[in-house]
Amino acid sequence: MPKESKPNFWWSMLTTKCPRCRRGPMFTNSNPWNLNQTLKMPDRCPECGQPYELEVGFWYGTGYVSYALTVLMSGLSLILWWLTIGLSTEDNRFFWWLGINSFLLIVLQPWLMRFSRAIYLYIFVKYDPDYKHTQTKTFDYQTEDYYIKKEGE
Ligand SMILES: [Zn+2]
Repeated sequence: MPKESKPNFWWSMLTTKCPRCRRGPMFTNSNPWNLNQTLKMPDRCPECGQPYELEVGFWYGTGYVSYALTVLMSGLSLILWWLTIGLSTEDNRFFWWLGINSFLLIVLQPWLMRFSRAIYLYIFVKYDPDYKHTQTKTFDYQTEDYYIKKEGE
């Protein structure tokens, strides 16, 4: 059997695939604009069994990620606007950008929320080519060792 190729890092993250195997989907419904199910995730990756919510409240940190993404995207769109349409203090072009940029951010919001979770999980869970035979990634304090160490202190 040919060796399975390693899925691309950026593509896997953009398409919100599990960081460990880069094959299983992170979200139950593949369409982020199905708003009832935007953040609906299986507990574990259907492909490799990696748990997604590494601890209770794990996803709170994604607020910072999505904020940074929003700032980054607005910055990029402003530069793009400035290079193509231009900006001037004499007319309303800046306000047109502001309106269009806000509109785009609102439309992209469901996908941005998912993408933020993907980025966040990719920070903690690394790709494992041998995912079928190794342990899933957990936070250390969830293992028995942690509690043993704690008691010994
Ligand atoms: Zn997986």
